[in-house]
Amino acid sequence: MNFVESASPLNNSNASRNDNNIVQPIEKDSPVKNKRGMPSEYSHQGTAENIRELKLKAKENGLTFKDSVGRNAYFDCKNANCGYKWKCRLNDDLFYEIFETIEEHNHDNIAARKNGLTNRQKDIIIHRINGMKAVNPKACLQAFRNEGIRSLPTNLQVRNFVYQQKQKSKKNILKLCKDNRSIY
Ligand SMILES: [Zn+2]
Repeated sequence: MNFVESASPLNNSNASRNDNNIVQPIEKDSPVKNKRGMPSEYSHQGTAENIRELKLKAKENGLTFKDSVGRNAYFDCKNANCGYKWKCRLNDDLFYEIFETIEEHNHDNIAARKNGLTNRQKDIIIHRINGMKAVNPKACLQAFRNEGIRSLPTNLQVRNFVYQQKQKSKKNILKLCKDNRSIY
C-alpha cells in the first residue's frame, strides 16, 4: 500500500526503494513501476537551495515528503492512486536536483492547480505543440478562452509548461535517434 502517514514519514513500507538509492533520470529497468506497469521515467524539474525550499516546492506541487536515503529525498503525491513523484538528490554543490516522473498528477486537485495548469489546459498546449501551432502565452490563453475555460493561468506558467514540454520532446527525439541507430 502507498498511503501517506504524516506522523511517521519514515515508515518501513519503502524497503524496496531503499535499495535503489541513486537518482537515475532515465532508467530502463527501474524497479519503480508506474500505474500502467511501466517503469517510471524521470526528467529534471529544477533545483532547490536547501531542504526547506525543497519541501516548500514539493508542497506547491501537491507532494509530501516520504523518505530520505543518504543524499536522496523522495516525495509522493498525497493522493495514493497518483503516480506523480519526485526523486531529489543533494549534489556536491549542496543544493538539491529535483527529478519528477514524466507521469503527471492523474487528478485535478487544488495543489496541482496552484502550481500552474489544469490537465485540460496542459492537453490543449500539448495538442498545439504537436500541431505546430503557436504556443506563446497569448495564443495559449486565447485557446483556453475558446474552449470556455474561465480561470486562466499566468503567462509565466504557460511559458514554463511549454518550455518543459519542449525539453521532454527533445529528449524523446534523441532517444528515437539512438534507438533507430541500432537497427543499422
Ligand atoms: Zn497526484
